[in-house]
Amino acid sequence: MIRGRDIGVRFNDGVEALSRLNFQVTEREFVAIVGPSGCGKSTLLRLVAGLEQPTTGTLDVDGMAAGESAAASAPKLAYVLQDPTLLPWRRTDRNVSLPLELRGVAGGEIQQRVSTSLELVGLTDFARSFPHQLSGGMRMRVSIARALALEPHLLLMDEPFGALDEISRIRLNEELLGLWERDRWTCLFVTHSVHEAAFLSQRVLVMSTRPGRILAEFEVPFGFPRSPGLRTEPRFIEFAATISSRLEG
Ligand code: ADP
Ligand code: MG
Repeated sequence: MIRGRDIGVRFNDGVEALSRLNFQVTEREFVAIVGPSGCGKSTLLRLVAGLEQPTTGTLDVDGMAAGESAAASAPKLAYVLQDPTLLPWRRTDRNVSLPLELRGVAGGEIQQRVSTSLELVGLTDFARSFPHQLSGGMRMRVSIARALALEPHLLLMDEPFGALDEISRIRLNEELLGLWERDRWTCLFVTHSVHEAAFLSQRVLVMSTRPGRILAEFEVPFGFPRSPGLRTEPRFIEFAATISSRLEG
């Protein structure tokens, strides 16, 4: 679904964010990307979303250059950031419906999609709450619901749980995985947590320091469904340690 060849990105101020980066993602795959801060992870997601163009190399999404693909299939792509970016004056349901309204989806269908996605993230009872009435984890659920309401084929997530406490983060990891197992959108998930990457994904890409390229790639050897207990199993801890060693090395 995504194929990047020899991607390089150099910004106008001379900063080289990515260099000779190669990667690919198969349809319905859950791929995690880990790497040191500033190595170009967000830049890579922005490229996939068509928000940035590679300076060198090529990036195809769905068989088209990423920019064209994003324009042609905007409804199929959803982006979730660390900051849930909710509008404070809109209630939960109206935050979730906003991108659908902007895309001109019919009212009845908006209602139906909003209620389905709020149910998926367990926020049906909070549909009429304002963002300030929700916890950090709940606000992130709203952000996920807003992305899912687009019925995406490709979900780009940029450290979505990075600002949450550990308990909320672990719970949201499980919920996200449940949603993915249900609908199997393709997911590209950036995190600086090796444990989160190992728990969620089928494949982990490790990026180098800037300019970022793919240093190593790991197939995750755990099947689905994954229970919370997996995190404390020796094989999991060992696997995470193997990834960490590549990250630091
Ligand atoms: P990460 O998400 O891995 O922390 P980013 O992709 O945000 O890294 O940034 C990679 C590097 O590129 C950083 O050094 C950052 O300062 C720089 N950078 C990101 N966006 C721009 C931009 N629009 N102009 C100039 N430099 C940028
Ligand atoms: Mg980033």
